[in-house]
Amino acid sequence: MIVTQDAGRSLVSGDVLVEDGRIAAVGRVDRSAAEVIDCNGCAVLPGLINLHNHAPNTLLRGVADDVPLEEMLPMAAAIDAKLTRRDVQIGALLACVEMIRSGTTSFHDLFYWEDEVARAVRESGIRGFLSWVTLDESKTTQHGSPLKNAEAFVAKQKGDALVTPSVGVQGIYAASEETCTKAKEIAERHHVRLHLHLSETRGEVEAQRKETGFRPIEWLEKIGFLGPDLTAAHCVWITINEVRTLARHGVSVAHCPVSNMKLASGGVAPVPEMLLEGVVVGLGTDSPISNNAMDMFADMKIAALLHKAARWDARAMPAQVVLDLATVGGARALHMEREIGSVEVGKRADLAVVSLRGAHTTPFYPENVISHLVYGCRGSDVQATVVDGQVLMADRIVRTVDEAEVVSRAQETAGELFEA
Ligand SMILES: [Zn+2]
Repeated sequence: MIVTQDAGRSLVSGDVLVEDGRIAAVGRVDRSAAEVIDCNGCAVLPGLINLHNHAPNTLLRGVADDVPLEEMLPMAAAIDAKLTRRDVQIGALLACVEMIRSGTTSFHDLFYWEDEVARAVRESGIRGFLSWVTLDESKTTQHGSPLKNAEAFVAKQKGDALVTPSVGVQGIYAASEETCTKAKEIAERHHVRLHLHLSETRGEVEAQRKETGFRPIEWLEKIGFLGPDLTAAHCVWITINEVRTLARHGVSVAHCPVSNMKLASGGVAPVPEMLLEGVVVGLGTDSPISNNAMDMFADMKIAALLHKAARWDARAMPAQVVLDLATVGGARALHMEREIGSVEVGKRADLAVVSLRGAHTTPFYPENVISHLVYGCRGSDVQATVVDGQVLMADRIVRTVDEAEVVSRAQETAGELFEA
């Protein structure tokens, strides 16, 4: 059963033919192929797009649980300051394995040493949209100037099939007007995107108001930072006027419900209003420190439940809308909708094959398959993952990297990190 996520959200029975990294046919296929993946009893869907992540933070998983963001950040920063390039690379590789295993084919990352993340991306075969984070020099653990580092990264990494570089900004609480403006200039100079944390907590909004007289989105509009090349993560504490400001400037939003709930950011991002006003929204797990997993199936379910519970409205955020966030929404947010996000002829072959044969997904039929994917399935139901036509996992065995070795190296690295 092919969950195409095309404009008509068609469900098609049949095969998907992949040639030269792209989808060559969907439905009736009368040719054979060099490799055939048996998808009987499975849904074939566009690979999921994790619109906000900090992949190398897998190494910090479980170090700052049950505390709010204000306490989590310094705890994370203390370990962060000790990370070496090698640590970042193994942390990112572990994240890539976890994502491949749960059907994620693209992720949008925000970190420093993104060149190490790029190395993990190429090794594992996943698609990475990698934003080198910038912030004021007085607030960073990075070696050298974050702005110069970011520019060197985007200049060097341009034009790769799997790696798309961009410029990140930690957030207005760590980046002055000058830093924000320079980050935007770098992005414009190199024709790449921008990625930042925005209006995540009430504290951030209040502090900005106190300091400048403006709410964060109003302030970013005033300094000329907003535009269609920006993806903002969170946008929890925003007014309807700010939703309209985002829509007016074509800013896309990465909704991170699990992270917001775990850090008790309070309030609920007004996603239904964003969608109504025409803001493009995708779904992100956020960091393994604040999620703690990277299973987009869990995040889809929780996204649906959060909005229903908060509004006392079972019709809020239906399954199809949530699946849209994790597929076509993420693709549109990254301006990649011509290439990824749906199973259509001509698009890049980024696919997830999800078993519907489990006890928890029985019975299944076309009418309930979208519900199963959002409310019933887990990342562990993913049988095969394909990116750019390359089979990264089949029969739940990752082919591109030695999973057991990556896991044990990450365990060892974390051991050394916390011993010291
Ligand atoms: Zn984040």
